[in-house]
Amino acid sequence: VEKTLAIIKPDAIHKCDEIEDIILRSGFCILQKRRVHLTPEQASDFYAEHYGKLFFPSLVAYMSSGPIIVLVLSRDNAISYWRELVGPTNTLKARETHPDSLRAIYGTDDQRNALHGSDSFSNAAREIRFFFSDSIVE
Ligand code: ATP
Repeated sequence: VEKTLAIIKPDAIHKCDEIEDIILRSGFCILQKRRVHLTPEQASDFYAEHYGKLFFPSLVAYMSSGPIIVLVLSRDNAISYWRELVGPTNTLKARETHPDSLRAIYGTDDQRNALHGSDSFSNAAREIRFFFSDSIVE
């Protein structure tokens, strides 16, 4: 089985129980889980690939604005299956084209899109290490 890293972002944390139910009903196992409040520096590190983009400062502010729930999920094809369930990056587009996706249901706008999912095997490994190797302390 494959592993992926999921994040319930600050705008959706009040719905985390409901989202975790959907995750389990969709055939994933939750292998690890933690609640974290990232500092702006930690959020910048996590999203380093977007450094320099126009939306980077507000992305960092959003991701450090409140607690998040970080989950290691497993099932067959976990990475692509989770991204499919999560839906398109932009919540407003998700509502038009993928109305059943989690972002369509729980997201707020083009940036505050409720959920994250690793986009590749190597990023999943990096992101799981980022949150579960004790480098992040509450
Ligand atoms: P994630 O990595 O969070 O799963 P993603 O892979 O769908 O999302 P990325 O392109 O990696 O999207 O962007 C990371 C995050 O940055 C997005 O989830 C969103 O919160 C924010 N973001 C991306 N593009 C924009 C944009 N054009 N305007 C504002 N925020 C954006």
